[in-house]
Amino acid sequence: MKPARLPRNKTKTRDLREWDRRFVWHPFTQMRDWVADPDLTVIERGRGSYLIDTEGRQYLDGVSSLWCNTHGHRVPEIDRAVQTQLGKIAHSTYLGLANEPASILAKELMGIAPKGLTKVFYSDSGSEAVEIALKMAFQYWQLKGMKTKRTFLKFQNAYHGDTIGSVSVGGIQLFHDIFGALLFKTFAAPAPYPYRENFKGSDAAYAEFCAARVEKILKKNHRQIAAMVLEPLVQGAAGMLMQPQGFVKRVAALAKKYDTLLILDEVATGFGRTGTMFACEQEGVRPDLLCLAKGLTAGYLPLAATLATEEIYRAFLGRFDEFKTFFHGHTYTANPLACAAAVANLEFFHKNRVIEKSQAQIAQLTRCLEPFRALRYVGEVRQRGFMIGIELVQNRSTRKPFPPAAQIGVRVCREARKHGIWIRPLGNVIVLMPPFCFTDPQIKKLCEGVYQSIRVVTQK
Ligand code: PMP
Repeated sequence: MKPARLPRNKTKTRDLREWDRRFVWHPFTQMRDWVADPDLTVIERGRGSYLIDTEGRQYLDGVSSLWCNTHGHRVPEIDRAVQTQLGKIAHSTYLGLANEPASILAKELMGIAPKGLTKVFYSDSGSEAVEIALKMAFQYWQLKGMKTKRTFLKFQNAYHGDTIGSVSVGGIQLFHDIFGALLFKTFAAPAPYPYRENFKGSDAAYAEFCAARVEKILKKNHRQIAAMVLEPLVQGAAGMLMQPQGFVKRVAALAKKYDTLLILDEVATGFGRTGTMFACEQEGVRPDLLCLAKGLTAGYLPLAATLATEEIYRAFLGRFDEFKTFFHGHTYTANPLACAAAVANLEFFHKNRVIEKSQAQIAQLTRCLEPFRALRYVGEVRQRGFMIGIELVQNRSTRKPFPPAAQIGVRVCREARKHGIWIRPLGNVIVLMPPFCFTDPQIKKLCEGVYQSIRVVTQK
């Protein structure tokens, strides 16, 4: 087989596009549309808040490269940390060996994690972090002799990843229905969606109402339920759906009352996105298992973590031949390059007081989002910290959604490219989630460009 020739500069973009169209199958993508797109963007480099393509065009990275980049691209301190680690070793197995950056990261994570979490189990993606939490919760009850606790309580509209276990606890019909026959049994509780439920009453009353629906299921079925799985404060992939204040706290109290474990999935909300390091801090909640990924390595390399309490960890201890061992692990578990990036990421958060400083950026985002509310086809503007969803509707008074065939979200995001902005929608919801390095003018440019894009597309 001949090795692929690196494209010459003049034909580079053309060749790379051609090879992509001919040989690649992209995630979450209708490939018929993809291969027909003449403007396929090929990213070559990045700098700070910008992605730069092979033609030298710059785009503001308005969704943090799918919610994972924390401090921008080419951060000198993080680049250096990965390079230094590369000068030592790129990878060694974690099955039977420890490694330097993974030990340091474990200690650092315990320093910032919610109280009560004492052990970290590494993996490579958010889906795996959730998959591991599910398996740990399941095995925990088996080991404790509570053999009936074999299933999970999940929430409608939830998204926890794409492996079969994490899909089983997901609730997005569009992604998950097709795999129905492969999924294990769960109980599904309705999740808060204030805009669509149109609840009349205070935030506290709504939180109470939503929690009561959860309790109804728990009361009847708690003997079968090993754990509840929740994205705290914001259901991200569902369209940035915000939960009323007090909801997470109530769910956590119910987990205690009905003796089920609480798995919080902070793959999206973690690492400062909601205005605190972890979303659960805002409700004073301590989960039994916490799933982290995305922002863990500053968006540099794939790495995930499932944090567990001492109580869960200890249940797995025993004589070798009792086989209480957690039989799970991946080839690239605790990859040293990724762990080195994560250590440098946490140091950057700390040294630069990123979360403290982000409060002013959050306020700036709020101000810049205000004009969107007056747009004729904007049904709701939702914001929690750096997580923003702008729901477009065909009719504001009836809240009638745009039909999927209108591809309204896709068209707005395509239009935004003309303004030098790269964003990706969730159906009819325009998502903004910039990294923390966005300056005030960049926040302004992002919001103004998206505002104009919505106007242009909805007027067509
Ligand atoms: N959980 C949540 C809340 C997520 O938002 C995502 C990814 N968007 C995942 C899990 C899955 O993470 P990954 O894509 O890294 O598998």
